[in-house]
Amino acid sequence: MKLCVIGAGTMGHGIAQVGATAGYDVSLRDVDEGVLTDAMDSIEENLGGAIARDKLSESEAADAMDHIESTTNLGEAVEGADLVIEAVPENEDLKKDVLSEAEELAAEGTVLATNTSSLPVTSIASALGDPSKLVGLHFFNPVHIMALVEVVLAEQTSEETATFAAEFVEALDKTAVVVEDAPGFATSRLGAAQGVEAIRMVEEGVAAPGAIDDGMELGYRHPMGPLKLTDVVGLDVRLDILEHLREELGERFRPPAILRRKVRAGKLGKKSGEGFYVWEDGEALAVAEEFR
Ligand code: NAD
Repeated sequence: MKLCVIGAGTMGHGIAQVGATAGYDVSLRDVDEGVLTDAMDSIEENLGGAIARDKLSESEAADAMDHIESTTNLGEAVEGADLVIEAVPENEDLKKDVLSEAEELAAEGTVLATNTSSLPVTSIASALGDPSKLVGLHFFNPVHIMALVEVVLAEQTSEETATFAAEFVEALDKTAVVVEDAPGFATSRLGAAQGVEAIRMVEEGVAAPGAIDDGMELGYRHPMGPLKLTDVVGLDVRLDILEHLREELGERFRPPAILRRKVRAGKLGKKSGEGFYVWEDGEALAVAEEFR
């Protein structure tokens, strides 16, 4: 079985890693050579972590690395693929373009999947020659750790495609939750609702980010508070999701001004080194200075 992953950023490299670990041949494609190099380094580092935690043997990790090739060439990436998953930025037109191009280059019958966290899978499918082949496969960050994948059924998704997708998730040793194509599906909608309220609370001076996060971690046993999670997701990604949910579901999802300001300043969270927290080597060191 060959898996092709398009977009090698936060999500794409993780999907490539879990695919390769499960024994798939993986082709990872990005438009940016530098992103591909970083993606391969991150995968190697994650696999090293899995060895240290006794989750993987040295030879299994080496085997997984051998199963992944990276390329900027889309034709090469989709050649012979049974499944193509796109993980490019959260923009409907971009996703439609990327998937239509992949569909044209892929063999007939190839299943296509979108890792969108909030866009309508039904309208992405409408851009394809055979929309019954598209399904949403919504992975969670970090992909190699999180056990859940939402399988999102577009109106056009065939039963065969849905079954193929659920079996693929099972082969990755993850749990599939099947949801209909509603705005934000089941999880992004609730996650965004909590995240946006936490940001408003910071804006209103109700409490500092650390206090809000401690409240949810210690009081509700959430493994990570909503503001730290926003940093991990990426403030730009969260802003895109909120803009979409506001359009679909109303003003309760209106992005707070502070979120827009930080995105404009390039303060995107963990990946840029600062969001609600200051990050170094993948760890949150302290709350960002403006909130101290
Ligand atoms: P990212 O910005 O980290 O990565 C996107 C990558 O796509 C970049 O490396 C970019 O160079 C590449 N790209 C852009 N155009 C391309 C093209 N035409 N062909 C190939 N590659 C291209 O974004 P991300 O955080 O990995 O998010 C990707 C998708 O996953 C989005 O739809 C997002 O909503 C979804 N998602 C993100 C998270 C998260 O926590 N970050 C969680 C679940 C789902």
